[in-house]
Amino acid sequence: MTDLPGIVITGASGRMGQMLVKTVSESDKARLVGCVERAGHPWIGQDIGVAMGGPELGVTVTDDALVAFSRAQAVIDFSAPAATVEFVKLAAQARACHVIGTTGLAPEHLRHIELAARHAPIVRAGNMSLGVNLLVQLTRKVAAALDADFDIEVVEAHHRHKVDAPSGTALMLGEAAAEGRGVELGEVADRGRDGITGARERGHIGFSAIRGGDIVGEHDVIFAADGERIVLRHVATDRAIFARGALKAALWGQDRAPGEYDMFDVLGL
Ligand code: NAP
Repeated sequence: MTDLPGIVITGASGRMGQMLVKTVSESDKARLVGCVERAGHPWIGQDIGVAMGGPELGVTVTDDALVAFSRAQAVIDFSAPAATVEFVKLAAQARACHVIGTTGLAPEHLRHIELAARHAPIVRAGNMSLGVNLLVQLTRKVAAALDADFDIEVVEAHHRHKVDAPSGTALMLGEAAAEGRGVELGEVADRGRDGITGARERGHIGFSAIRGGDIVGEHDVIFAADGERIVLRHVATDRAIFARGALKAALWGQDRAPGEYDMFDVLGL
């Protein structure tokens, strides 16, 4: 039992954090060895299982990430960009694999990740589900097969608490579409249309975001031409798909060489 890879969950009280605690503690392939929350969080010092309203899991929530990471083979981190850049340095120091699900990372955050990847393996993906990673591959293929007579629009919907837009997944899909077309997403992305925007530009890739209720995550990639339309769709109904993907990434990544990896590497897509 004790030779199973040890996993630490950061942001353990969050929506994904709690799902990850459940997934890892129920797994027969890994063991939960730590849970991290920010200093001053009311769960610090409590057993994570009890804090979540269930039975004891024998893991006390801590704000000392480095001590927790040094006991683990992998850290699963679905928190916030500012926290993730701190965790990435500490996970590298502890030589633990860092699985990053956090989205909304800006170029300066990505630079920290790149530096840390010289010392430890990092698996990062804006979406850890098998279905979405397949959808990304399909999007790249369809975009490569169609010309700019087909306008590409990415439409996503998430719960009312989500703080970033477009979602990390929508951006992954946009990147895949741009790659398929052989263009830079930064040069063709239309984000946040409002007011008199003028007619749609040929070859651009548009993004729209819906926020409401408890929607777990829905993504459509629409290829719209005159007279026909192709829609590729993924609908997530349960956060467990992201947690299962993240655990798979942690198990895959824990004994890899330092470097940056993604879910295509993990899933062999
Ligand atoms: P959430 O419920 O707000 O949870 C975020 C957690 O991180 C909270 O517990 C928060 O604590 C904690 N946190 C923030 N800063 C911290 C710090 N400095 N130290 C320790 N903990 C800290 O959000 P969520 O819905 O779980 O989503 C979390 C992230 O995962 C988002 O970026 C989301 O987009 C992403 N996500 C990715 C995937 C994927 O497959 N890649 C899937 C779903 C979600 P406080 O409550 O104290 O702020």
